[in-house]
Amino acid sequence: MKNNTPLFGGIEGGGTKFVCAIGTGPDDIRAETRFPTTSPEETMAQAVDFFRQQEKSLGKLASIGFACFGPLDPNIDSRTYGYILPTPKPGWTNANVVGVLRSAFNIPIAFDTDVNGAALGEWRWGMGQGLRNFIYLTIGTGVGGGAYVEGKLLHGLLHPEMGHIPLPHDKTRDPYAGNCPFHGDCFEGLASGVAIEKRWQQSGSTLAKDHPAWDLEAEYIAMALASYSFTLSPQRIIIGGGVGSLEHLLPKVQERTKQYINSYIQSPAILENITSYIVNPGLGNRSGMLGAIALAEQEMLKQEI
Ligand code: ZN
Repeated sequence: MKNNTPLFGGIEGGGTKFVCAIGTGPDDIRAETRFPTTSPEETMAQAVDFFRQQEKSLGKLASIGFACFGPLDPNIDSRTYGYILPTPKPGWTNANVVGVLRSAFNIPIAFDTDVNGAALGEWRWGMGQGLRNFIYLTIGTGVGGGAYVEGKLLHGLLHPEMGHIPLPHDKTRDPYAGNCPFHGDCFEGLASGVAIEKRWQQSGSTLAKDHPAWDLEAEYIAMALASYSFTLSPQRIIIGGGVGSLEHLLPKVQERTKQYINSYIQSPAILENITSYIVNPGLGNRSGMLGAIALAEQEMLKQEI
């Protein structure tokens, strides 16, 4: 028996940057670093180096959680488990990222999508605490969602791709064609930060709070949230990301989602408490990094059973 509290490593692998941290929770992050996402070889080597260096002073890690951008293979029984699947991101297609960690560290490694990781972080320490069914959605450069269903992260066939659902698109009101390389005007194609910038020819961060852009944005988000509410019946929807966390956007999204649902879901959560049904993350922009730590913790507990 060890007396020390187990120490976890977390990697939040994003398309533009990686965040690596060591700790046990939001109030106990003992080391943290971030670096740009370049090639898989270089980026994963930087992550391995960070943990190896830190282990010298902080002590050995019990497990590592890796919450990564996708698409990826999270199915432990699959031949390509731990791989990044075909992606437009140069060099990352078929990168065996978990293999790199496994050959460097002889400890349990958890692997999931960045959004599932963030969902688990919110369940452990944020706005998902005590819930058995909720969704974590990020709206920023891209759009993605993680789902916690009946007390477990949802994977299904591979993993949900909530950012790519088709949405009704009124081209008279919004002639912008959308920018998803696969679907054009899917949810992400119409509502990501990149789409906002291309549609209005200026960054969302410079658009005034009363700009019509935000009504349109809230409309798209609300259509997606209504769909998720009808299909997965979550107890709560948490919206994060650079666009999703905007304070002035949230009330519009809450109001429009309620209008779309139109009292069809007869629950006080929606009928009376929409402001606690659709919320921003409790962990702010740290859901992903802390989610990776939570994945590591969960993996260690699994191994102990
Ligand atoms: Zn798409």
